[in-house]
Amino acid sequence: MFSYRHAFHAGNHADVLKHLTLIATLRHLMQKEGGLTLVDTHAGAGLYRLDSDFSETGGEAKDGILKLLAIKPDGDWPEALRDYMELVAGFNPDGRMRIYPGSPFVMQRLMREQARDKLKLFEMHPTDSKVLAANIAQLQAGRQIAVARQDGFEGLKAFLPPPPSASGSRRALVLIDPSYEIKSDYPKVGTCIQDSLKRFATGSYLVWYPVIPRPEAHELPRRLKTLANQAGKPWLHATLNIGRAPGTESHGLSASGMFLVNPPFTLKAQLQAALPTLVTLLGRGTGQAWAVESSS
Ligand code: SAM
Repeated sequence: MFSYRHAFHAGNHADVLKHLTLIATLRHLMQKEGGLTLVDTHAGAGLYRLDSDFSETGGEAKDGILKLLAIKPDGDWPEALRDYMELVAGFNPDGRMRIYPGSPFVMQRLMREQARDKLKLFEMHPTDSKVLAANIAQLQAGRQIAVARQDGFEGLKAFLPPPPSASGSRRALVLIDPSYEIKSDYPKVGTCIQDSLKRFATGSYLVWYPVIPRPEAHELPRRLKTLANQAGKPWLHATLNIGRAPGTESHGLSASGMFLVNPPFTLKAQLQAALPTLVTLLGRGTGQAWAVESSS
């Protein structure tokens, strides 16, 4: 079950889509003062070295963050892409791209001490959960960040509804980012969203999934749309496909999607601006495409 290690994939095109969307969503939520409970149900190791054996010196990041970095920002980049690039660059102050932040550190960077935002991280892998705990311990964040070696689908339930913030409001963002290494992850995501909307209908839920020729992967966004519609909640669905170089073999992931329930109203326009640029910069040829659809 635990053959998946995110270190092999860190900084690839799927991480670019996921983390760019996460940052844009968080920025919007953080315009309001009330404290946020942030939950990462499948957290990974937190930080990744792009010059390690795992990543084979950049590996998949060469078709992701490293490719973007090779192109000098010209100041005209869409806001969400620029924001993402700046946040990642902040982990590499000497200008050499060696560290890639996973979702726990993306969220941690944006958390506000004053608002008393809280971060709850779940990771089941025996090694990655230890690495994550050690990475988080270095921050000396105390009770602001909690790490649990526990099933994130189950662990999430304890935080929905989230505890009230100092101002009395209850606000939460949940990232659900399984490895889909076992088929049962697909229906589990649907069940998790259904249950979460019952527990806390106004939470912001972000689901990442791979776009692959597998019935469960096709079915997942359809199921999530149905669940959001049944709950009367807005949704947004974005996909990024970097295609394949003509004549190359079909291996490795070339497309993925983000499905959000209760997305910020500003996100659609931000992704409609950023995704065409990403396809132009990361696109490999056959099949490259992007799409953003939403309930409104
Ligand atoms: N969210 C991370 C990021 O963006 O940096 C990447 C997470 S990776 C795609 C999925 C992680 O989920 C893996 O590290 C895997 O070990 C872990 N995992 C698998 N099943 C799990 C479960 N039921 N609960 C918590 N973690 C799980």
